[in-house]
Amino acid sequence: MAVNPPFYIPRAKRAAGKPTAKRERDRRHDARRREANPWRNFYKRKAWQQAREAQLAKQPLCERHLARGETVAATVVNHRIPHRGDWQLFIDPANHESACKHCHDSIIQQIERLGYSTEVNERGEYIDPMHPSNRGR
Ligand SMILES: [Zn+2]
Repeated sequence: MAVNPPFYIPRAKRAAGKPTAKRERDRRHDARRREANPWRNFYKRKAWQQAREAQLAKQPLCERHLARGETVAATVVNHRIPHRGDWQLFIDPANHESACKHCHDSIIQQIERLGYSTEVNERGEYIDPMHPSNRGR
């Protein structure tokens, strides 16, 4: 047997409050994140959008998967050296890498866990200045 709520609230009214409250929460959340990371606005710049398009046009496949001989479409442009708010590193095409979302998320998770990227250059050297083998140089 169905149990009625103690007070009747019209369905439309119940639903109405929710999205607004969520939107407001999201808006405040975004604002806090922008404050913590002002470089989030870098992603809105035209120069980035063009650089991103150019990278994905140049290399439409995920480079991490490609290195394992697998063909997966890239949807994200990753920064080989974490830019940490440095516009030059952010926008430098040499620092851009095509990645699928899966690879990008695991790269980002690793950087967040370790505090540095383990990306290597063609000589096998770690390229992130924050990597332990590069510190104090
Ligand atoms: Zn991938």
